[in-house]
Amino acid sequence: MTETPLRLFNSLTRQLEEFRPIHPGEARVYTCGPTVYNYPHIGNMRAYVFADVLGRTLSWKGYHLTHIINITDVGHLTDDADAGEDKLEKAAARSAQSIWDIARHYTEAFKADVRALNIRGPAQWTVATDYVPQMIEFAKGIAEKHCYELDSGLYFDVSTVADYGRLARASTDEGESRIDPVAGKRNAADFAIWRKTPKGETRQMEWDSPWGRGAPGWHLECSVMSGAQLGFPFDIHTGGIDHREIHHPNEIAQNQAHCHSDASGANIWMHNNFLVDRTGKMSKSSGEFLRLQLLIDKGYHPLAYRMICLQAHYRSELEFSWEGLGAALTRLKRLVMAVEKLKQVAGDSLHDRSSVSVIRSQFDLFEAAICNDLNTAEALLWVESLPALKVIGPVEKYVGIQRMDAVLGLDLINLTRADLRIRPKTATISEAEIEAALARRKEARAAKDFATSDAIRDELTASGVEVMDGDPLGWEWKLDHA
Ligand code: AMP
Ligand code: ZN
Repeated sequence: MTETPLRLFNSLTRQLEEFRPIHPGEARVYTCGPTVYNYPHIGNMRAYVFADVLGRTLSWKGYHLTHIINITDVGHLTDDADAGEDKLEKAAARSAQSIWDIARHYTEAFKADVRALNIRGPAQWTVATDYVPQMIEFAKGIAEKHCYELDSGLYFDVSTVADYGRLARASTDEGESRIDPVAGKRNAADFAIWRKTPKGETRQMEWDSPWGRGAPGWHLECSVMSGAQLGFPFDIHTGGIDHREIHHPNEIAQNQAHCHSDASGANIWMHNNFLVDRTGKMSKSSGEFLRLQLLIDKGYHPLAYRMICLQAHYRSELEFSWEGLGAALTRLKRLVMAVEKLKQVAGDSLHDRSSVSVIRSQFDLFEAAICNDLNTAEALLWVESLPALKVIGPVEKYVGIQRMDAVLGLDLINLTRADLRIRPKTATISEAEIEAALARRKEARAAKDFATSDAIRDELTASGVEVMDGDPLGWEWKLDHA
């Protein structure tokens, strides 16, 4: 384990804290997973890039990492608190499909985005519907002291635990007053941990429980799955900043009740800020919304989006734009080209890396940035400045970049320049055709036949290909995207 202590911002104490593992040498992390009623948008994926950088950092620091991400396939209502319909039941009714098929389809779509963004798979994907018996047991254990029953379900009384809502920034009561109050709730912030199926209705997903047939509440799911997989207390709980207001305060209240303790269940609670998009395309209800596949269809390599995430601190709001994506892609290209050049210069000596020690100072700077609450924006600068250093050779530089990329996850060692070419799905011309046309154009130019050379260029332009003579990055052509 290296020496720079890892300091992380704990939303609960509102300060930077040194990471001290509960179990020596181990790091146990739980990340709230997606609700699989639709495709994730790229904002959702920011939450998992952030959790991945955290996990990679912990592994890099030498901790044995157990990372759990759940799949919410039941219980998340259209409002984060207690109103509205179950998101999955609603999607199933709309599309006249089985809820299980919907969950399966969107879970696979989510995992495809995870892979495309080079996010490491967790130790376990816990699926909420696999844990319903444990949820019922958990609820039984806290029902008598902390809950009460209404016609609509079993409710958690937030006044029965110490300091409810200490994590939230907004006043929780205020947050609750904008949604339909449930008649009979003792406190506005009380929430259902078990929702009974209303009389005369059937749900596709329902289970028997001591409180009637119904389904678990979303907040209950995460308490149960995190505790079952990691044991209370565990080290770090992560999620998007919206979870800081309702979902996580409710998880904490349940954990306190379950553990008979005032402690929250996790030592550190971390939250990524939002990716925002001024065009409004990130709403899952809008037709063409900003999902990773849209970026890919327009021709961008998905890791350009990972680069966008890394360029900002995870606690800062980040605005998405197509120009920004283009700039991030160029930045990634420059790094990949630098690595390709190092490979070339180093040649065979790359195979003998046994005695390579990358200069400490550069590495220390990188590590200091990452250990300062995962400052990836600064860490990137240390990776980028490595190839130009005078004092070390190409093999050391290559190994240095490889080691740093273990944290950033940009796949700098395997990506090639060609992988990063913009390739819109709508392109009507193949790369082989473009290359062949450019070869003919080269010949024409060599023969000073500029009429033919210009004609070829015009044909390519008509097919959406921009010929890039003298491009500083050495690209000869680019496909314009729709
Ligand atoms: P959901 O599928 O709605 O439960 O959300 C999955 C994850 O994405 C949660 O951790 C959310 O907090 C997070 N999230 C939702 N919207 C955004 C956004 N615009 N930017 C960053 N994270 C988000
Ligand atoms: Zn959760």
